[in-house]
Amino acid sequence: MRLLIVGGVAGGASAAARARRLSESAQITVIERGPDVSFANCGLPYFIGGDITERADLALQTPSSLSKLLNLEVLTNTEAISINRSDKTLLTKNLISGETTTRAYDKLVLAPGASPMQPNLPGLDLPLVHTLRTLQDMDRIDQDLDNCQSALVVGGGFIGLEMAEQLHHRGIKVSLVEFFPQVLPPLDAEFAKDLATALREKDIDLHLGESLVSLEADGPSMKAHLKSGTQLDADLVILSVGVRPESKLARDAELQLGERGHIHVNEFQQTSDPDIYAAGDAVETLDSILGGHRPLPLGGPANRQGRTVADHIFRGDKALPYPGSIGTAIVRVFDQVAAVTGAGEAELKRRGVAYQAVTINASSHADYYPGSETIKLKLLWSPEDSRLLGAQAIGRDGVDKRIDVLATALRGRMTIDDLCHLELCYAPPFGGAKDPVNLAGFAACNLRDGFLRPSYAIPESPAQIIDVRPTAKFQSQPVPGAKNIPLPELRSRLNEIDQDQPVFTICQMGKTSYFAARILQQNGFDAHSIIGGVNVNL
Ligand code: FAD
Repeated sequence: MRLLIVGGVAGGASAAARARRLSESAQITVIERGPDVSFANCGLPYFIGGDITERADLALQTPSSLSKLLNLEVLTNTEAISINRSDKTLLTKNLISGETTTRAYDKLVLAPGASPMQPNLPGLDLPLVHTLRTLQDMDRIDQDLDNCQSALVVGGGFIGLEMAEQLHHRGIKVSLVEFFPQVLPPLDAEFAKDLATALREKDIDLHLGESLVSLEADGPSMKAHLKSGTQLDADLVILSVGVRPESKLARDAELQLGERGHIHVNEFQQTSDPDIYAAGDAVETLDSILGGHRPLPLGGPANRQGRTVADHIFRGDKALPYPGSIGTAIVRVFDQVAAVTGAGEAELKRRGVAYQAVTINASSHADYYPGSETIKLKLLWSPEDSRLLGAQAIGRDGVDKRIDVLATALRGRMTIDDLCHLELCYAPPFGGAKDPVNLAGFAACNLRDGFLRPSYAIPESPAQIIDVRPTAKFQSQPVPGAKNIPLPELRSRLNEIDQDQPVFTICQMGKTSYFAARILQQNGFDAHSIIGGVNVNL
């Protein structure tokens, strides 16, 4: 078996490692355009900001250690130029010597990844404009920052946000421009708003719903011109406006591509040519929640797809198919962590998928144990069969654990009923006897079953709003137009509420207001509780 692998980082290195574990006799060659293989691209922002101090820690393997460890031929600084499918050969070029070589394969794996998009705008060729993909990009940014006071990050996706945080850690004044009216488009707007607040609290100069039009040199610095006419000064610019699949090799070889140019693959990562496999950012993968195919440029899918490739090559029918991706991702922005799995509300609306949603605020662990933090957690599910469609969370602590549990639930095609009885870790420092995931399941079932009538915002006056928090809380943080009836007094003060009009109950986080609404509903009131309470709506 002569196995050629194009790309030696996430997908390619995973395919090579698994291939060797399945076959000691295969001839495996990894062809990598850059000087490094198997490096930690996800760690690059954290070296720039100083969280990671040793550059060597990012080079998980050197070309020679990888070669020795797995008995591979590792060709760095070597580019795959073209595929000849009828001869089953790959033409490669040594980028240092210029020498080209034709290499025969039995199976070819394409794991070329995706390159940062470079919009065609005036000034983007200035020397202090950077993208971040490789260790060399990182080194250049790191060096240039030594002489910078300010930076502009263009694009508020995962990498843009990580860079904004890390540049701030490094003492740089940061501006961030995002085309959409919110940061991190996979998150629903109300969650993205919390991230925007976290950024602004650290003096990140955020420009949402804005776009960069041009850059011009201004002495050693630059002036950035935005669409609105705003001008920003920046000593350095990071462009993080998305990635484009490196699918030219596949396109030239007339392999089937998806709508946006990603390589189309089946459940075993085979392209339209069964002897050519593909994995990682260059492919479009099955969307296992909503169906169809979509790109998902994330490290986890790339690594697992690489493994699937090797499994199918060496184990054939015994290989586990890649089940598609659900889109689980996480980002830290200063003290806030936001995570998402599955479909968000915007995506469900765009695709015309019927859904119901509920948001709860719950404690990361027992309130009485020090250090408990609020997690805002949203579930989206199908009204047809109560199957989970997606979840999002934001908070300071415990967000990763809840979204990981919900990602597992999504993969297991669980319903909101299943979430109610997930038996999760509990001791006071770690969780609650009813974990936030259980509580979200209860709230979802209550909503579906008609016990919870949600209001997603404080209604305009003159609606009847009853604030059921303790009076001291009400006085310190009043809700405009609300009357305060603390929950323990509610049953004895029902006569103060007009039964002919709808009533909206509110509390701090949205739980006590639900209890109040249940009291009112059972006494004949048309009562609705305001989701997320004062924490979310004020
Ligand atoms: P890559 O890892 O990019 O590897 C592709 C390799 O192929 C490249 O080294 C390239 O040089 C080589 N290549 C391309 N064309 C050729 C050719 N013709 N010949 C030879 N070699 C070629 N994902 C997460 O899930 N979580 C994170 O926190 C996260 N953070 C990230 C931070 C940064 C700064 C970046 C850049 C990415 C981050 N990602 C993260 C995304 C993750 O790194 C990618 O999804 C993953 O690396 C994709 O793997 P891949 O093998 O498809 O491509």
